Amino acid sequence: MDKLICAGCGAEIQTEDESAAGYAPKSALERETVICKRCFRLKHYNEVQDVDYDDDDFLEMLQQINDTDSLVVQLIDIFDFNGSLIPGLNRLTGNNPVVLAANKMDLLPKSVNLNKVEKWLRREAKEAGLLVEDVHLISASTNQGIDELAKAIEQKRSRKDVFVVGTTNVGKSTLINELINRSTGIKDAITTSYFPGTTLGFIDIPLDDHSSLYDTPGVIQRHQLAHYVSDEDLKLITPQKEIKAKIYQLNEEQTLFFGGLARMDFVKGEHSSFVCYLSNRIPIHRTKMEKAGHITENRIGEMLVPPDENSLSKLPQWKRQTFRIPEGKHDVVISGLGWIMIPEGEVTVHIHAPEGVKISLRESLI
Ligand code: GDP
Repeated sequence: MDKLICAGCGAEIQTEDESAAGYAPKSALERETVICKRCFRLKHYNEVQDVDYDDDDFLEMLQQINDTDSLVVQLIDIFDFNGSLIPGLNRLTGNNPVVLAANKMDLLPKSVNLNKVEKWLRREAKEAGLLVEDVHLISASTNQGIDELAKAIEQKRSRKDVFVVGTTNVGKSTLINELINRSTGIKDAITTSYFPGTTLGFIDIPLDDHSSLYDTPGVIQRHQLAHYVSDEDLKLITPQKEIKAKIYQLNEEQTLFFGGLARMDFVKGEHSSFVCYLSNRIPIHRTKMEKAGHITENRIGEMLVPPDENSLSKLPQWKRQTFRIPEGKHDVVISGLGWIMIPEGEVTVHIHAPEGVKISLRESLI
């Protein structure tokens, strides 16, 4: 039998092991376009089936880029920069040039200065040890910046192959579908979804007679909150439109709960503003710090949602981390949830969040 590739995710089609990638029942092979059972269910019922790829498999797959002469487009989620950057990407992809495309710019408040954001991206990428040729701000869903990106790819690849890499949920399928749509007029060529990890193999999209654009598997980052919540909650925490900043003026010893997914205690400092950038569908609850422990013990999943029941069974215990924020505008980032901007700085906060979810401090994005 010739090697068959799933038209949805690119995994090699096999009919033996139902729990592994690319499984399709024999009857499916007779169709003109073959897709695996997982993509079939995703497409028709919006269900996700887990397959047993682990994180190392994904990185190993990416490492194949090392042996190619190509252009790499690393797609990141501007809403979760730290969570969506692939550590050691240059090592995995060899000497091939990297274009950084920051997706979901439609989520940023309209008032932001895009030049400043671009500079910020360059600085953060450099600090993370990622060497990039070019930086683009795009939105795969509203098409902002896509023309410029497509043009830059065409110019920089100089007839070589292109590999699009990114962690799960950054919008890789949406972007590639848009690029395919532009060049061929075919809509939704790749299965898109709300759910992480739907793109399993390399999908080969011919660009011209001797080169292709490859969709690579979405790298799973365990420190992204997305992996610990139910599908319903993932829809709530993934912002769909422009984020409305919510501003709180707090005194020492006050606490903010972000749904029941994390909490910030303002431990020390003068009366300060805290500007929260999260999905508009995560309610924020303000309380006194002395009550916060009791609320954490008793009200999560009940007064404080999300998490729903399914997420509660998956989420690790909360862990506390202390941040002493220096003078000047800084963001405390809770990977996958959003960030809190502290305009004046000079405060100490405790962040309580599920253990394993990355929390970091950075110079303010906005
Ligand atoms: P993949 O896992 O990287 O292939 O990501 P998908 O293309 O499946 O997208 C993941 C989620 O992000 C879906 O809910 C998309 O609707 C959403 N998404 C993708 N691109 C954008 C964008 O430019 N802006 C916004 N707001 N959401 C996006």
